[in-house]
Amino acid sequence: MNTISQGEKMITLLGLAVSPGMAKGKAYVYRDVLQPDTGTYKLGDAQVREEQARVERAIDDVRQSLTVDTRRIEARLGKDAADIFRAQEAMLCTSSVVEEIKTALEARRINAEDVIKMVFRHLVHRFEEMGDEVLQQRGDDIRDLSRRLLLSLAGIHTNTLENLPPNTVLIAHRLLPSDTVFLSRTSTVAVLIEFAGPAGHAALLARELGIPCVGGIPELLGTVHTGDVVLVDGSQGTAVINPDLQALQTYEDGLDRRRKHKETIQDRCIERAVTLDGIEVSVMANVRGREDVELAMACGADGIGLFRTEPFFLASKHFPSDEEFADFLLYSLQPAKGRHAAVRLLDIGADKNPIYLHLPSESDPFLGRRGVRLLLEYPDLLEAQLRAILKVSQQFRIEVVIPMVTTESDVVQVVQRFCRLADEMGISEMPRIGAMVETPAAALSISSLRKQVDFLSIGSNDLTQYTMAAGRENPMVTEYFRDDDPAILRLIELVVRESSDTPVCLCGELSGRADVMARLLATGIKSFSVPASLVPDVKDTIRKLSTLSNASL
Ligand code: PEP
Ligand code: MG
Repeated sequence: MNTISQGEKMITLLGLAVSPGMAKGKAYVYRDVLQPDTGTYKLGDAQVREEQARVERAIDDVRQSLTVDTRRIEARLGKDAADIFRAQEAMLCTSSVVEEIKTALEARRINAEDVIKMVFRHLVHRFEEMGDEVLQQRGDDIRDLSRRLLLSLAGIHTNTLENLPPNTVLIAHRLLPSDTVFLSRTSTVAVLIEFAGPAGHAALLARELGIPCVGGIPELLGTVHTGDVVLVDGSQGTAVINPDLQALQTYEDGLDRRRKHKETIQDRCIERAVTLDGIEVSVMANVRGREDVELAMACGADGIGLFRTEPFFLASKHFPSDEEFADFLLYSLQPAKGRHAAVRLLDIGADKNPIYLHLPSESDPFLGRRGVRLLLEYPDLLEAQLRAILKVSQQFRIEVVIPMVTTESDVVQVVQRFCRLADEMGISEMPRIGAMVETPAAALSISSLRKQVDFLSIGSNDLTQYTMAAGRENPMVTEYFRDDDPAILRLIELVVRESSDTPVCLCGELSGRADVMARLLATGIKSFSVPASLVPDVKDTIRKLSTLSNASL
């Protein structure tokens, strides 16, 4: 374990600096809630009553958590995304499901877990037999509901990430995209993760939420306990568990210094970032929903450089229609009205699989059907997004970005569909369309690729993963996943050079790194998109640099 000191109870942990900032809070150890297998057991008379009471408590618990989830998801992602929880809640409030469980328990006299599994299996079966796709999707909702009940019976509170008490330091083995949908900046003050590299999903989310995060701390879950007091320094990559008075004082002093620095840079965040030699650099924000857009505006972002739409699609339990997606965009972008916003088409596949698509598993998912490859195979999914974007473009300065482009043909196929749909909808002024440069093949084909698009957006996270041949979520190869390696900087320089007058933005995590900014400016890039909370810092860094410094790549 990376422990550098151990007093009576105090433990100092060293890890990777994943998301900057300092925080103090109480630990909440989040364990992967895989279904524990209780085994079937027979009940006596008294036990049947106890078991009925357990079921009632679990139902109450799940109902309450669904009410809370509905409210919070609605506030964050809009009404449509919350509908799934509302439907589940309604299902639990209808007496027929509850009665069915109680009757089966009485008749079978076996433990509640097995009765619930049985009743819900029958329910799913009934829906699936109806042959209707919408009703079949309800089968997934029912499975999810039964999972919530079983977890509650096991004493595990569902969606705990959404319901954490204020001032929580979240301690996790690993966070999956579906977990992170529920992470909230109002309750979580910091995150410590056993397995997390600088470009993994957890890292991205923590940075975007402005939550300090330290990753790569081995045996973390065996070291920290729920309720421990924890100090986190996400900029240094350290955490102190159960600090003594001296450690608390050091923390308070550091916090004070940071607060003063923040106040200074916040005062100037609305101004444009201009280098010492007078070059204006654009600093935009990466967002996922309305809260991020609000934060981006408060932090002086020059626009929305990358709108990641995956959380919206992952939070939904059915294939969202173009109206639902358009409503989500309109709601989310409202605080940035008048600014330009680049909305990325859904980048799923690999480790992000909305359950309603029932995607077959692949042996090499990160080298398989991801991003645009998948969209071209699911035209309904692609066209619903394009129609929504065209609709929203009538009110907002919206742009489209195509994810995971490898070939010119990837882009041409999307552009053709986009033009056809605009034609069908009678829209003559097309939104600008751009391609993500995230594969070495795309970076090496800019001279032809640029002719098909209005702008280019370099995704350094995936570009690093594919250039360095090191998985961004794989803790075993963190040393190879170096997004500031000269190989990556040279590719960025090449893209800028070959792009001619086509605008290029850098939107991967690399763009938020103050220590690499001089080298990035040396590549010629003049537009960045960073997590909203980092906008003031990045502008401050740029103002202290010159593009004439000739920093070596
Ligand atoms: C990237 O790959 O750098 C990027 C911006 O996309 P994402 O991190 O969402 O894959
Ligand atoms: Mg990417």
